Amino acid sequence: MTTADYGFIQVRGARENNLKDISLDIPKRKITLFTGVSGSGKSSLVFDTIAAESQRLINETYTAFLQSLLPGYGQPDVDSLENLSAAIIVDQKRLGGNSRSTVGTVTDAYSMLRLIFARLGSPAVANPGVLSFNDPGGMCPDCEGLGDVAAIDEDAIVERDKSLNEGAILLSGFNVDSWFWAIITQSGFFDNDKKLRDYTADEWHRLMYLPEAKVKLATPAGSMNSTYEGLVPKFKRLYLTKQTETTAPHIRAAIERIATRSACPACGGARLNAAALACRIDGRNIAECAAMEVADLAGFIRGVDAPTLAPMLNSLAARLDNLTHIGLGYLSLNRPSATLSGGESQRVKMVRHLGSSLTDMTYVFDEPSVGLHPHDVHRLNELLVRLRDKGNTVLVVEHRPSVIAIADHVVDMGPRAGRDGGQVVYAGDLAGLAASGTLTGEHLSRHQALKPTVRTATGKLVIKDAALHNLKDVTASIPQGVLTVVTGVAGSGKSPLIQGCLPRHHPDAIFIDQRPIRGSKRSTPATYTGVLDPIRKAFAKANGVNAALFSANSKGACPQCQGIGLLYTDLAFMDPVVSTCEACDGRRFLPEVLEHTLRGQNISDVLRMQITEAASFFTEKAIKPTMTALVDVGLGYLTLGQSLDTLSGGERQRLKLATELGNSSRIYVLDEPTTGLHMNDVDNLIGLLDRLVDGGSTVIVIEHNLDVISRADWIIDMGPGAGHDGGRIVFAGTPHDLLTDAHSLTATHLRTHLS
Ligand code: ADP
Ligand code: ADP
Ligand code: ZN
Ligand code: ZN
Repeated sequence: MTTADYGFIQVRGARENNLKDISLDIPKRKITLFTGVSGSGKSSLVFDTIAAESQRLINETYTAFLQSLLPGYGQPDVDSLENLSAAIIVDQKRLGGNSRSTVGTVTDAYSMLRLIFARLGSPAVANPGVLSFNDPGGMCPDCEGLGDVAAIDEDAIVERDKSLNEGAILLSGFNVDSWFWAIITQSGFFDNDKKLRDYTADEWHRLMYLPEAKVKLATPAGSMNSTYEGLVPKFKRLYLTKQTETTAPHIRAAIERIATRSACPACGGARLNAAALACRIDGRNIAECAAMEVADLAGFIRGVDAPTLAPMLNSLAARLDNLTHIGLGYLSLNRPSATLSGGESQRVKMVRHLGSSLTDMTYVFDEPSVGLHPHDVHRLNELLVRLRDKGNTVLVVEHRPSVIAIADHVVDMGPRAGRDGGQVVYAGDLAGLAASGTLTGEHLSRHQALKPTVRTATGKLVIKDAALHNLKDVTASIPQGVLTVVTGVAGSGKSPLIQGCLPRHHPDAIFIDQRPIRGSKRSTPATYTGVLDPIRKAFAKANGVNAALFSANSKGACPQCQGIGLLYTDLAFMDPVVSTCEACDGRRFLPEVLEHTLRGQNISDVLRMQITEAASFFTEKAIKPTMTALVDVGLGYLTLGQSLDTLSGGERQRLKLATELGNSSRIYVLDEPTTGLHMNDVDNLIGLLDRLVDGGSTVIVIEHNLDVISRADWIIDMGPGAGHDGGRIVFAGTPHDLLTDAHSLTATHLRTHLS
């Protein structure tokens, strides 16, 4: 079979973002890999041009009414796109944040399981709805199908050995002489000098749980009316009804110490009512099945003896096998989808599509190997190949050599990032890429080695008896003052140990994650890093005017777009449509403001500067180091005024890292900081982490990237497997010692990488 049999997607004159009017042909029903440094234009070509146009064309075939319900896609900046097929985007956007959405509901495996229980369970139930925790007929009445309730740890709120006057209340804001404390001590409900441990049951209940009660307070100014409320309901109202996503990390940690979500006492976390839980197959009810790791559940389902239902049992087992094949066998169907990482979410979505019998679709993947240990990459590759072999066109943006290896065709973007990128520097087969002389080609053919010496620890951080999720009473000792890399297959317990347990033991650790940034539409690299203020001041000083003139909130800002330069048209049910503001032509400010210049550039020019340019343009002390830090983390291709909602998870993490860099001698924790980075960018990132450590910091990274692993001072390898087969430290030592370890999977792959 030759590529010509199915033709090509023909891209002509693409100019979206940094693309330089490029034209190329992409073979259909083949796997095409898109490579190139971060910011070279891969997403602009694959997502913003090809996938966007395909989705737009599909939307146009719907009635106007349906179109109004679908997300809006602007027409990409391209002369023509021929031979497109319908595109399915499988990206790393997290799956719905709603706690009723689970791995089982997202993959449809749970509804298959319900049908099987309704038919085979004993006693059989009237209809499968009775087995659904999202259906009033099946949900546990106490927790309404959520499976857990907020439990408050009383001893984290008060100290029983003290009286109110001695400061028994530990909650922040309730210290002696505070207003909240006065309401309690003057309520007349308590003897303020009595130790809490001597309280009667009634007094205890009043202090902790009394709902709102009117009280008269005796104050120096006379008596006044107020409302008394027990500590628990008050705490819940103050802290638990608010979104925790936006709460500062130290407050979030405090809240988590006090309020733990714990299994609902009525259903024990099963989410279902007694009738649903009574229905069993081979001794197991549906909640027990949903709590099993899917690899085990597949075995259980295969063991069910029911010839009449064989097709349904087989198709459920096959769906579960797909999860296992893609390295997610450690998940359970009851796992809330909101707790999955970006990489896990992408792989779960993939499984949903593998069940589909559609052919001649275009599947578009964004770094599908994120979060996968080298040991699991071959499974991902097999699934991509299966999608192709079913007659689909598969487009993959990826940096890992072991995924690039399966390409039928490679499109290498570059030569560099931002304005220095946007071109196709190589298109052809893999063998040709290695010899092409492009950055990607060079890196694919180069040789890696361990560094000759490792640093010596200056102390240690200890985590004792950690048992979160799958951890098996782990005690870990993490060296200080060095670069530690935590490795292990997906699901082995890296994040439970580092992100779940380290903060409790070491609150001074700074976690730099990939979470979205609040208010990111208005935020830009300039506002987020805090350089916009000094930039405005520099303009003010150079022109003898007020700095406020250069603010998006000032009268100098374009009144049409309020200084954003873009207009977001919010339509019901649609993603907002973004367009350049016509009033200011994207310049954000009124003409009179733009007349003020600094070394020949006006404020709009500055906001359009790439950070690399800004790093040489600004010599000011308050600006330059931040620009350099952004270049160091590999974000030099962003413009100062680019909206943060255009950033990927990896880019967000590096932006957060750059802003934290100024603070020396701290503990930095990063989760897969190489996400989105080309091999060349990874070298720069390692250089940066090295400088942090040399400056006295402790750096801990969770990583799969073998270049990072080989440059570590210390390695903690988790495993041996995933889920219940993991949860232990299988190796801790230097990379050199890891090479000789006979048991570690990471060791096997590191040896191959270095050979
Ligand atoms: P890659 O996918 O190769 O990392 P991108 O296509 O994301 O690269 O980015 C190419 C260039 O286009 C970069 O300079 C990036 O900052 C810029 N860019 C991407 N999206 C936007 C956007 N929505 N607005 C402005 N610039 C953008
Ligand atoms: P790693 O970071 O090594 O990939 P994970 O955190 O993904 O490991 O998984 C380790 C184990 O902990 C797995 O069994 C996983 O199912 C479980 N786990 C992780 N996070 C949660 C969670 N939020 N709720 C329930 N189980 C979890
Ligand atoms: Zn319940
Ligand atoms: Zn405007």
